[in-house]
Amino acid sequence: MSGMVTDDAGGPGGGGEGAEALDAAFFARWMTAMAGAVDREADRLTELDSAIGDADHGGNMRRGFDAVREELREDLPATPGAVLMTAGRKLVSTVGGASGPLYGTLLRRTGKALGDARSVGREELAGALRTGVDAVTQLGGAAAGDKTMLDALLPAVEALEGNGGKDFGAARAAAGQGAEATIPLQARKGRASYLGERSIGHQDPGATSSALLLAALAEADESGAGSAPGAGSEGGE
Ligand SMILES: [Mg+2]
Repeated sequence: MSGMVTDDAGGPGGGGEGAEALDAAFFARWMTAMAGAVDREADRLTELDSAIGDADHGGNMRRGFDAVREELREDLPATPGAVLMTAGRKLVSTVGGASGPLYGTLLRRTGKALGDARSVGREELAGALRTGVDAVTQLGGAAAGDKTMLDALLPAVEALEGNGGKDFGAARAAAGQGAEATIPLQARKGRASYLGERSIGHQDPGATSSALLLAALAEADESGAGSAPGAGSEGGE
């Protein structure tokens, strides 16, 4: 638990105000909340991936975000940008298949866009996430409606931009709806596209895990300052 940075700047704790700056501890809470969500949902992600993929998404994501959580617990970087870049690098080195590079790119590019400030505003985060999602679009060559993680990420970023980054809950809802909306779609990118019409009727695993990432962001906001990773009992195994 050494190396943990706590918010001693006297800023207001908790979410809801929409004005307070987000520091490295907040971003670590986000990544830790994602690790917990992936732990809880790993079986479901693998089930979804077994229907239209190769049944490894739950295990891959769990291995990756477990490693991210451990890394941040051991040595928390000083800035929000560095937290996300560290997380992204860890995912690239621990997650196989397409998910590692795609999630790694999302977090690294978002982190890079945040620069080296010790805290960032919510609108900045919305803009940085747009940069990260754009990078995923470029890397994967997918567009909205292709039944990929972008079907959750794009509506979430649009929601965040629409509210100036103030309402992470709206982004969570948009991502969740986007993931569900992949069910009737035919996959046009990735392994699921090999199935053609047989990919119809199944929710996309990547969109599902992306919705978890936005849910974790809202969760980190709701859990507020003072519950830094490793400080509580949650996800402690
Ligand atoms: Mg897979």
